[in-house]
Amino acid sequence: MKTVEMVKVAKEVLRNAYAPYSNFRVSAVLFGEDGLFTGVNVENASYGLTVCAERVAVFKAVSEGKRKFEKILVYTPGRENLPYPCGACRQVMAEFFGEDFRVIVANDSEEEQFTLGELLPFNFKR
Ligand SMILES: [Zn+2]
Repeated sequence: MKTVEMVKVAKEVLRNAYAPYSNFRVSAVLFGEDGLFTGVNVENASYGLTVCAERVAVFKAVSEGKRKFEKILVYTPGRENLPYPCGACRQVMAEFFGEDFRVIVANDSEEEQFTLGELLPFNFKR
């Protein structure tokens, strides 16, 4: 699946983002052999319970027994901020995906691509 197609899906599901506190709406599209899963950020009045779009997508997939994915696209509208995954999301992705797993961040004016190994070297392993 091409990045442009993933962005299209990300824009479609963005309407479901629940971000009344930060107004920073984010969506994520996880893609690979096991199919396509989406996620949006879901905030909470007690801010610490907020869950990022990437983790929602990963947890949806894993909870359905799907773990074979090659990349994730994280999108936020606008032209200013790129939605780089937070540390918690990087560690969650490292739990299920390898160093070559690709992470694409995009907004309405640019995109950047990394490997998970670049974003989280020396991740915690047991
Ligand atoms: Zn996060």
